[in-house]
Amino acid sequence: MSRRELVLSEIGYRPLWKLRAAAVTTPSALPLDTPVNLPKLQVTTAVSPIQPQPISEALDNSVQAPAPPYENPVTATPITDWDDLQQQINACQQCQLAGTRTNIVVGRGNQKARLLLIGEAPGEQEDRHGLPFVGKAGQLLENMLAAAGIDSEREVYICNLLKCRPPGNRNPAPDEISKCSHFLQWQIDAVQPELIVAVGRFAAQSLLQEQASLSSLRGKLHQYGRYPVLVSFHPAYLLRSPGEKAKAWQDWCRVRQLLNQK
Ligand code: SF4
Repeated sequence: MSRRELVLSEIGYRPLWKLRAAAVTTPSALPLDTPVNLPKLQVTTAVSPIQPQPISEALDNSVQAPAPPYENPVTATPITDWDDLQQQINACQQCQLAGTRTNIVVGRGNQKARLLLIGEAPGEQEDRHGLPFVGKAGQLLENMLAAAGIDSEREVYICNLLKCRPPGNRNPAPDEISKCSHFLQWQIDAVQPELIVAVGRFAAQSLLQEQASLSSLRGKLHQYGRYPVLVSFHPAYLLRSPGEKAKAWQDWCRVRQLLNQK
């Protein structure tokens, strides 16, 4: 099985039809979102092609973002650089999660990435390793990025709303999100991404200051300060609801497409 087939299999796009004759162009030679028409046999990928859509025409809503300097709300200490961010989060006792965390989870990836992924909070594996999106959910995310042609090492920085794990993977509390938000604000403006993707309901609602469902926030281009924002499913949710992977795949094709327009 080719790498492409492995990836598509992982995210749920199987089976792929194959021709026995070698006289025609094979699907593997074409972009993943390209429908392929072959003689006598209709061959399609699981995903419809997505038409290019300029950001300015697609904008759904716009949210004003706080302005720097981003500082500790208790001590009024500004964050100076990435090392200082790490130290301040390490020392942070501003919410109750400081008492139950094993490790802080700041983020991973290219600190000057084109794409910023924001999730909700560390889970058990993330708390154990001190890194966001590890374990099965992280692997699924990596596979979706790879399938969409996004280089996670080079093009992506990944972080969460919260830097410490809520016990038992409970939902983040509003005061926890609020007390942790200056760290995220600093990360957003330090990375200066071309595009933000909020994965999961909490990340999307919190960033966009919306109460709308994830379903209604998906498929639209939002704006957070000067940054365009797309919304998609959290990979942990996709593991529980594999039937939604096709929609997630469309989201990641759109992400790739928007990055290609830049
Ligand atoms: S979750 Fe954020 S605000 Fe709460 S202790 Fe951790 S770093 Fe501080």
